[in-house]
Amino acid sequence: MNKNIPFLDLKAINQAHRTGLIEAFTRTLDSGWYIMGAELKAFESSFANYCGTRYAIGVANGLDALILVLRAWKELGKLKTGDEIIVQANTYIASILAISANGLVPVLVEPSHLTFNLTADGIKAAITNKTKAILPVHLYGQLAPMADIMSIAQESGLLVLEDCAQSHGASVAGKKAGSWGDAAGFSFYPGKNFGALGDAGAITTNNDELAQVICALRNYGSHKKYENIYQGLNSRLDEMQAAMLQVKLPYLDAETQHRQKIASRYLAEINNPFIVLPHVELHEAHVWHLFVVQCDVRSELQGWLEQHGVQSLIHYPIPPHQQKAYPEWNQLSFPVTEHLHQSVLSIPISPVMTDEEVTQVVNIVNSFKI
Ligand SMILES: *Cc1c(COP(=O)(O)O)cnc(C)c1O
Repeated sequence: MNKNIPFLDLKAINQAHRTGLIEAFTRTLDSGWYIMGAELKAFESSFANYCGTRYAIGVANGLDALILVLRAWKELGKLKTGDEIIVQANTYIASILAISANGLVPVLVEPSHLTFNLTADGIKAAITNKTKAILPVHLYGQLAPMADIMSIAQESGLLVLEDCAQSHGASVAGKKAGSWGDAAGFSFYPGKNFGALGDAGAITTNNDELAQVICALRNYGSHKKYENIYQGLNSRLDEMQAAMLQVKLPYLDAETQHRQKIASRYLAEINNPFIVLPHVELHEAHVWHLFVVQCDVRSELQGWLEQHGVQSLIHYPIPPHQQKAYPEWNQLSFPVTEHLHQSVLSIPISPVMTDEEVTQVVNIVNSFKI
């Protein structure tokens, strides 16, 4: 008997941590202290330790994490209005919003059609004398080629800001996402691999000066109550979300391994000629936030899956350069990106999917034809 398979069962994902979450909720409730306290400090220390960085700074969400790093580099004189930042053209729009929100210029670069990520050649061809930083996004959970990116950055004197919103725990040679660049932004939006019970985010870095500026910027530009050095914002990670995240962090690696097992089965067992499977460079470098296939008859495939009770989603249907928010880019052409947006489809993958459910998805995907 087939049952419906949701794309992501968030309720089941969090039920697995129910006892710990309720305990942490009660402790935070009873502490009477809800912003910038012991829970935040404890989580920041655990998450920095997890990522292998000197600092993790909790902020309100993933978009703010990226905005605050770029803003801090402006305050430190490392970036100025009008500087160019290289970013991949097929990313989720938040990576790009963070650049333009700071008066910086996003330079869109085509991704590899295999990995969906930036390539060394693509970056090199886009560098001008105004380029000041690279913003690689580890899209769908797979690390961008960070060793190459860091050596280009070093040669050309560029800053590197990793967008780790989809790649918690991905690593190459034990070096994790968020520890490669000069700084990184994480999102703990509930649907990410490591999710809070609301909005949350963090910045990781090894740079003392940058960490200090960000700590002030997230709190009205203030290091000390009622003294403001910068025109900051209010972007704090509250005690309750920090406490929830602290409960879930010890289980992240096991949850990632479950995702990796499902991905290995899909890669081995899906053999439909209408479907192109995702390309994996290195097992541990991919944490499978999404399992993204390509199909030239995508709407037929999605309809077939739906008809058989399998929910699928498109990440993403409209590329940033075709969004109304950026009318100045609407006439530009990015063929690789545009083809991806027309052909990608994400099928269910999560830490709570069972073997039977995976088998069911494989069978339904393999039986699709036109
Ligand atoms: C989710 C996401 C963000 C933004 O995170 P929020 O917490 O939703 O603000 C940024 N970049 C990418 C690639 C994302 O997937």
